[in-house]
Amino acid sequence: MTTPYPADVPASQALFERARAVTPGGVNSPVRAFRGVGGTPRFMASGAGAWLTDVDGRRYVDLVGSWGPMILGHAHPEVLEAVTTTAARGFSFGTPSENEVALVEEIVDRIEPVEQARLVSSGTEATMSAIRLARGFTGRTTIVKFAGCYHGHVDSLLASAGSGVATFALPDSAGVSKAEASETIVLPYNDLAAVEAAFAERGSEIAAVITEASPGNMGVVPPAPGFTEGLRRITAAHGALLISDEVMTGFRCSRAGWYGLEVPYESGAPDLFTFGKVMGGGFPAAAFGGRADIMSRLAPDGPVYQAGTLSGNPVATAAGLATLRLCTPDVYARLQVVADTLSGAASEALTAAGVPHVVQRAGSMFNVFFREGAVTNYDEARDQDTAAFAAFFHELLSRGVHLPPSAFESWFVSAAHDDEAIAHVLDALPHAAAAAGRSGSGATIGA
Ligand SMILES: *Cc1c(COP(=O)(O)O)cnc(C)c1O
Repeated sequence: MTTPYPADVPASQALFERARAVTPGGVNSPVRAFRGVGGTPRFMASGAGAWLTDVDGRRYVDLVGSWGPMILGHAHPEVLEAVTTTAARGFSFGTPSENEVALVEEIVDRIEPVEQARLVSSGTEATMSAIRLARGFTGRTTIVKFAGCYHGHVDSLLASAGSGVATFALPDSAGVSKAEASETIVLPYNDLAAVEAAFAERGSEIAAVITEASPGNMGVVPPAPGFTEGLRRITAAHGALLISDEVMTGFRCSRAGWYGLEVPYESGAPDLFTFGKVMGGGFPAAAFGGRADIMSRLAPDGPVYQAGTLSGNPVATAAGLATLRLCTPDVYARLQVVADTLSGAASEALTAAGVPHVVQRAGSMFNVFFREGAVTNYDEARDQDTAAFAAFFHELLSRGVHLPPSAFESWFVSAAHDDEAIAHVLDALPHAAAAAGRSGSGATIGA
């Protein structure tokens, strides 16, 4: 049985006050600040397997997984060994090194249309570089993106973005120039007619369509059957590139990411892909890659400049390589079982408590939307009872289960979520569902 922890978290609270004095909002990435749910973020001191321990000494089953990377759980012994052995030989050389080659080989081996890839340090850098490359390759400037899709904090891609932009209901980001914004067309997700119409009007200006392979940053909203194919067909007909952002889904939804679940595409594969999160194993490593004729436009072979002091960092690539090599079919099978169990139990508990909800799933990624009816786009994702989510979230947190602190994020499971961790979550879920039911608005939404 889970018993709730006391409401106050003195050590996290003290650190949060210190942090707010010197860092905007007290955090180094906005969603960590708990603004979507209220309360004090937990400052974590350590992680092992499926569990995190905070500075007040409380333990939590982690369903954030560092927002995706920790697919094997925290401090996996073999990844730790790879990191410490590599670090002992030096941290960064500013020269090529073998792990970089091996990591890109692993990516190329897993995702058939990726003939070449280049390593960077964050998903943001990957999408930013892919956009520049698409513009350089096509000689066009306009980019099409979808509302609710998040591609990192790239200026031109912040319009109607998901993730923190959704959590805080920001219309767009301040500080993005009109010129940048005017070169971005934002369309509703899963709406091929809107894509057709945009291309009919401005097709010759459009360098690329960028889409999350299966969106996870407005909550989990998989592409409708034929949507990705349709994007491929339309972009190809107009000489534009298709960029599939697999930063979240890559190496998580399957060995070959979301691509591995949707393939084969009759109209052909996307031209470029972006990766991050899992491929860094918890360290800053990300990548973009795709067709060799496009990738060869990058410096030093071609005229599109792109660089990075720490790109392909030896320690980060060692962590990523060890992680990917450990991501065997058994691991993907285990992730499915964990996701089946937890999503099934969450739904059952909410149904029992009479709370309207829908669970959406993409591979082992899933989340609960607090509304009735499937979510196919950003408008529908925003039409949910975030107060019910906050009540659900806080009850789980008080019982040692750490969910993403936002109704617009996927929950992330790991292969380290063993029977003990799962039992702990199953025990807490009915209490959380009851709290969501008591939150008031929970009972009326969709009614
Ligand atoms: C997380 C994410 C990014 C940004 O990656 P960072 O490493 O946070 O810069 C880009 N695209 C998608 C789909 C993501 O989920």
